[in-house]
Amino acid sequence: MPPQSLKIDNARYIITVDPERRIIQDGSILIENGSVSRVGKAAALANARADRVIDARNFVVTPGFLNGHMHISYAHAVRGIFPDNLGSPLSHVFKLQMAMTEEEEHATTLLGLVELVKNGTVCFVDPGSTKFPDACLQAYQDAGIRVILGDCVTDQEAPFPLPRYDTAEAVTRTLSFLKKWQGRLDGRIYAWAMPFSAETCSADLLRQLKRVADERSTCLTLHHNSGPQARKDSQARNGHTPTEYLESIGVLGPNVVLAHSLGVDDAEIECLARTGATVAMCPVTAAKGGRGVAEFGRMPELLAKRVKVALGCDSPNNSNHLDIVRAMNMAAIQYKDSRQDMRLIPAESALEMATLIGAQALGVGNEIGSIETGKRADLVLFDTQRPEWQTLFNPVNNLVYNADGRSVHTVIIDGRVVVDAHRQSFVDEPKLYAKVQEMGEKLLARTGTTFPRSRWQIV
Ligand SMILES: [Zn+2]
Repeated sequence: MPPQSLKIDNARYIITVDPERRIIQDGSILIENGSVSRVGKAAALANARADRVIDARNFVVTPGFLNGHMHISYAHAVRGIFPDNLGSPLSHVFKLQMAMTEEEEHATTLLGLVELVKNGTVCFVDPGSTKFPDACLQAYQDAGIRVILGDCVTDQEAPFPLPRYDTAEAVTRTLSFLKKWQGRLDGRIYAWAMPFSAETCSADLLRQLKRVADERSTCLTLHHNSGPQARKDSQARNGHTPTEYLESIGVLGPNVVLAHSLGVDDAEIECLARTGATVAMCPVTAAKGGRGVAEFGRMPELLAKRVKVALGCDSPNNSNHLDIVRAMNMAAIQYKDSRQDMRLIPAESALEMATLIGAQALGVGNEIGSIETGKRADLVLFDTQRPEWQTLFNPVNNLVYNADGRSVHTVIIDGRVVVDAHRQSFVDEPKLYAKVQEMGEKLLARTGTTFPRSRWQIV
């Protein structure tokens, strides 16, 4: 049980991301029953008493981070196996994922959760890759994190192994998933419709799932490829660009989150702005995967049109880390370089995407994403007594350009301290590391997956 009340006292800075974007120097936050009940100058809250008081004089406090596209389930067992010269690893990815057992998925999920919360993530979208959510429920509960889950469905042929059903069965599965999962763990589980992509789902299935999401007041997410080749393929298939195709079949709206969305053109950006559909971009995946951010990335234009953009880490074999601070850094620097314009994606915009704008993109902006009275108390406390935080004049610049998740000292979700002085207490980490290493070795052997261990000889 969380303490009834908690006070973050005398923080060096509180970056609220509230409507005025106030940064409160020497600030305090009072948390009662899981929500922020007061936030302001420490002097103004001097008389506020709490069951537990955290001395925050060396801390920078931010809202908890959201990860808008994060396949949590498989990659930790085999992280780093793909050599750089492999090209797309997708066929191996899905083969490994399909082969995972319940026990393996539970352990890799636990490891993913450890990495997520210790780097300050309070809410993530798993785009339907968890096959055994029942087995993982205890892990979600123990970690205390918010999880957006769904059942990945397709009803068309795909170039790699994906869960494929009849259209009607895919809809029924989604309906029963929503019924079973929505609102569990005191509202920290959110269930969404999760068709894999427009290429692997019929228009009929997408339309029906959008209707289900609307009727159940929830969201829908799918992988969204764009760029010249995807546009050409889509034009040939249905006479539209990928984004306009979704609009033409009635599938875009404010409760639809398009993942990746690298390479949308101007008409597609207009289409997103017009319909209120949102995007979850994975800047590190795009860069590491050589997807051509310089040529195809449109994050500045999306933000200029007020399209809500969340950041994601995709998977531990894509980005390969689960650290949203590093994703913020990449988002903030990659457009400056690729367009030779330092004004693009200022540090504040990167932080907004990881917090308030990201929360709005994922339909939870009324609950979390900023530090405001009445919102759920999801907070990250960064320890500034570290070299990378010196010297400290502009806390947002220091966070986005100097720091990474390793200076996350304390994480609070729903008023509960889930990371305390860099430590989580829901799992024995060394034991888990050994277990997942062993599982990874067995999974590779079982699936006949072999790659050279390194380009350099391991002796
Ligand atoms: Zn994905």
